[in-house]
Amino acid sequence: MNKQKLNIILMGPPGAGKGTQSELIVKKYGIKHISTGDMFREAISNKTPVGLQAEDYITKGLLVPDAVVIALVKERLSKDDCAHGYLLDGFPRTIAQAEALEKLSIEIGRPLNKVININVDAEVLIKRIVARRVCPKCGASYNLDFKKPSKDGICDNCGTELIQRKDDTRESFSTRLEAYNQSTKPLIDFYQKKGILTNVDGLQDIDGVFAEVSSAIEGK
Ligand code: ADP
Ligand code: ADP
Ligand code: ZN
Repeated sequence: MNKQKLNIILMGPPGAGKGTQSELIVKKYGIKHISTGDMFREAISNKTPVGLQAEDYITKGLLVPDAVVIALVKERLSKDDCAHGYLLDGFPRTIAQAEALEKLSIEIGRPLNKVININVDAEVLIKRIVARRVCPKCGASYNLDFKKPSKDGICDNCGTELIQRKDDTRESFSTRLEAYNQSTKPLIDFYQKKGILTNVDGLQDIDGVFAEVSSAIEGK
C-alpha cells in the first residue's frame, strides 16, 4: 500500500452494511471511524442541543438539515485523532454535504482519497433492517438472522444490552430509502466523475464484502 493516508467515505443505502464493514476496516487499518448516525444517537441520549435539533428528523426517517450535520462533521474531522486517516460512515448524504466536505477536508489538510459504495437491493435491505440489533454503547451492529451475538441480546464487544433502533421500522425505512434515492444516490455519480469511487457487491456474506472492501482500500 502507498503511504498516502486513508481518508475514506463508506456509502450505501440504509442497512447496506456500512456500520458492520466500518468495524472491520477500523480493526484492520487503524483509522478513526466517524458515523454521523452514531454521533446523533449519542447527542439524543445526552439531550444536547444538536440531539434536540436532530431527534424528530431521525425518528421519522428524514435527513437532518445540512447545516446541522456539516457543523458537526467540521468539528469532528478537525480533531487530532483524525490526523492519521478517517472513515466517514453515513456522511455525506447530499450534494451540499459533499461540497462542504471537499472544501473543509482540503482546508484542514486531510483531503479525501477514496469512496467505497456498497450496493444492496431494496428487498434485502428491509430484511436486514428489521432484524438489526445494535449496541447503544459502542455502536456495534448485530443481526438476528445473519450475525447473532455469542450471548443472546448482549454486545460481544462491551457486554451492554442490545436494542432495536427506533427508526428500524418498515415505515421509517421506506422514508429513509426515499431520502437515499432522492438525495444520496446522486453522490455516486459525483464521486465517479472524480475517479475515486469503487463499487462493492454488498449481497455477499460479511467476510465476502470485506474482502472486496479491503481490495478497494489497498487499490488492488
Ligand atoms: P448500515 O450501517 O449500512 O445501516 P449495518 O452494518 O448496521 O448497515 O447492517 C444492517 C444489518 O444487516 C445489521 O443487522 C447487520 O448485522 C446486517 N448485515 C450487515 N452486512 C451483512 C451481510 N453482508 N449479510 C447479511 N447481513 C448483513
Ligand atoms: P443507516 O445505518 O440506516 O444508514 P445512520 O445510522 O447512518 O443510518 O443514520 C441514522 C439517521 O441519522 C438517518 O436516517 C438520518 O436521519 C440521520 N443522519 C445521519 N447522517 C446524516 C447525514 N449525513 N445527513 C442527514 N441526516 C443524517
Ligand atoms: Zn457494545
